[in-house]
Amino acid sequence: MKILTVVGARPQFVKAAAVSREIKKHSDISEKIVHTGQHFDASMSEIFFDEMDIPRPDYNLNIHGLTHGAMTGQMLEKLDGIILAEKPDFVLVYGDTNSTLAGALSAAKLHHKVAHVEAGLRSFNMNMPEEINRILVDRISHTLFCPTETAIKNLEKEGYKNFGIKIVRSGDVMYDAALYYAEKIKGKASFLEKCGIKGRFILATIHRAENTDDISKLSSIIKALDIISESENVILPIHPRTRKILEQNNIRPRFTVIDPVGYFEMLELLQNCSAVMTDSGGVQKEAYFFKKQCITLREETEWVELLENGFNTITGSDFDKITAAYSNLENKKPDFSIKLYGDGNAAGEIVRNLLEN
Ligand code: UDP
Repeated sequence: MKILTVVGARPQFVKAAAVSREIKKHSDISEKIVHTGQHFDASMSEIFFDEMDIPRPDYNLNIHGLTHGAMTGQMLEKLDGIILAEKPDFVLVYGDTNSTLAGALSAAKLHHKVAHVEAGLRSFNMNMPEEINRILVDRISHTLFCPTETAIKNLEKEGYKNFGIKIVRSGDVMYDAALYYAEKIKGKASFLEKCGIKGRFILATIHRAENTDDISKLSSIIKALDIISESENVILPIHPRTRKILEQNNIRPRFTVIDPVGYFEMLELLQNCSAVMTDSGGVQKEAYFFKKQCITLREETEWVELLENGFNTITGSDFDKITAAYSNLENKKPDFSIKLYGDGNAAGEIVRNLLEN
């Protein structure tokens, strides 16, 4: 069996690493990897391939820094050529980025099967580019690998039973990755020590367009984090886009801002922080994997089970809501023994199902 994996953005490297590791166990499957280049910054791309032992991409499309239309269009053009040449049995796409959409669309139009990992998620906010990508990719896929029961229910509500698309509850490959790499970094040199980070700290990440493209939202979040940092340190590994916008608007956070970190460093930060504040999809879940409460700096989340079970508080960018949620963290005692994302073998389930087709 031939699999063509299309990745291009930071969270996709984490997810694809888990599945690639599983694929390697099967001598009857070969995988080729296309890196679209969507995240081209070395700190957000190269480092992942190096440290996570993801096979080097067979194709590097180098497409980045464009409007969504130009980016998706150029990806489609190049992916068409690659898919025609490689003739894969499956094109494997992850999550909800432009690379996901381009990979799925190109494959579907050329009559190749698409398998979507992290399918069925919905934030119900059509202003998010990610939501549009999720809906379109699910609909043109051959197989949908859903991380949660909620994702399966979303698809049922949208009438997917009538579409003849194979739906599998696989569990979450990010959980596989977190378990595997947390074990791998045990005993390794400490990033926190190297940076001189001591004591309690909040781990923050901000990069969603809905926050970075609206300066009033971004400055409200920064102001809230400034105030919180008077009680305990706040560490923000900053996304290049967020850095650029803060600089352009002359906003200087009073807390600790560091360059984007590799996944291993991120795991150490997650394991040692007191809580997480983020607008990232993946980081919300990773907070839960490491038994940390999360404040989500968005108006909604596609990971609703985190809300329903009290692990997560949604605040959007509102200063009062963020600071109130921070003050309330101590009062909440969610039960982290509840298992929401499978047993850590989602990748095994995915590969087993691909082989069945
Ligand atoms: N991440 C990382 N370094 C950072 C910030 C995030 O390794 O400086 C990891 C994070 O742990 C998660 C993934 O990147 O595994 C999530 O990426 P991101 O927040 O960019 O995307 P989203 O999940 O929102 O799509």
